[in-house]
Amino acid sequence: MELKEAQKFLKENDVKFVMAQFVDIHGTAKTKVVPTSHLEDIVTDGAGFAGAAIWGMNQEPHSPDYMARAALSTLCLMPWMPGFARVVCVGHVNDEPYHYDSRYTLMRQIEVLKKRGWTMNTGIEPEMNLLKRDPDGTLKQADETDTLQKPCYDYKGLARSSAFIEKFVGSLQQVGFDVYQVDHEDANGQFEINYTYSDCLTSADRHVFVRMAASEIAHQMGLICTFMPKYDSKRTGSGMHLHISMSSAESNNIFHDDSDARGLGLSRTGYHFLGGIMKHAKALCALAAPTVNSYKRLIVGTTLSGATWAPAIIAYGGNNRSTLVRCPYGRLEFRMADGGCNPYLLTAGLIAAGLDGVDKEIDPGDPYHVNLFACDFKEMGLDILPQSLDRALDELEADKVLAERMGEGIIEEFIKVKRQEWQDYMRHVSDWEVDRYLEFF
Ligand code: GLU
Ligand code: MG
Ligand code: MG
Repeated sequence: MELKEAQKFLKENDVKFVMAQFVDIHGTAKTKVVPTSHLEDIVTDGAGFAGAAIWGMNQEPHSPDYMARAALSTLCLMPWMPGFARVVCVGHVNDEPYHYDSRYTLMRQIEVLKKRGWTMNTGIEPEMNLLKRDPDGTLKQADETDTLQKPCYDYKGLARSSAFIEKFVGSLQQVGFDVYQVDHEDANGQFEINYTYSDCLTSADRHVFVRMAASEIAHQMGLICTFMPKYDSKRTGSGMHLHISMSSAESNNIFHDDSDARGLGLSRTGYHFLGGIMKHAKALCALAAPTVNSYKRLIVGTTLSGATWAPAIIAYGGNNRSTLVRCPYGRLEFRMADGGCNPYLLTAGLIAAGLDGVDKEIDPGDPYHVNLFACDFKEMGLDILPQSLDRALDELEADKVLAERMGEGIIEEFIKVKRQEWQDYMRHVSDWEVDRYLEFF
């Protein structure tokens, strides 16, 4: 979109302010409000930020400004905030794109794909919990009547949250999302939204927008919409599945091949890309499940009430929801990621891992067609994902191939920020510990 066109669009829609938005290393949205009369400034120079005040920017108080430069193609309304629009920005420092910017990290991986004539498409499936707080601060489900066991796809649970769903879906539709389904998920008060896939940069931009919309629409209704991976130990966590396919000038999906002898509809390239993901799975875990809390979701085996649908064993399969990578047919569903991940860094990591597989022709081994939630991985000779954030960070630190492909700096910075998060957690004595040990000895 040209500047003139953008200005016309803003005028026609009565927009007074543009939110110049980018993400920190956690993937959370950062913004400045810019009156529309200053749109040109943020396109040419950018909105200025003190990088040291933002997680993971590798800047100090005396560093040059982090300039968030608007990519006008991303300009869209924020339908839940009349008079405001959002534009996604790419970080620049000293007039150069900044290597610690998450979106730029993904853009560089996309360039690597482009040299091969490929475009990666992703479809992201966000899960979320709708909650509220009592006046005394107690956290509860927004709909307290949603108490069924096995509530997945329940009609009443969905119907009673229809006011939120209508505003949320309506907002996304208004800015061009093709929303095709919303369902009640496996936990009480949990939902998932599905919309049509797109190129992986657009999908990452959209995922951030989804979180921005959901949290603020819920807030306007006196509710909390959380993407936290596991807010309640007794409930299924919130995943962020990512479907991957790859297009080229000749084909809309070079991962697809009907003659696949393994029956998953995957091409040789598809299997090699998958092989790279499997090989780097442990390191990718730090990017896909980047919080202390993420590892309460990625647990081995079943809970008392059944599967939690989140993977732990490193294995892939056909239409098998107990695997780490499900291959519905001719594409990959990466099931490891949760709602707390930075979609730009994760997608960049998946490209880096997948291309390593393609370049080295890594075979992912055989698919698994059994219920892995009910299997003993040791007996099967399989491995599991790291079971805590610090173990995942060790894996990421040890994976030099991934760091080299993604750009050493941002991985180092990510590890630094996340090690601190782990240390903060370890220094905290929880209620569980007090309950367990206070009078135990
Ligand atoms: N909520 C599950 C997870 O944590 C996924 C459920 C599903 O298969 O949609 O990954
Ligand atoms: Mg789901
Ligand atoms: Mg899914």
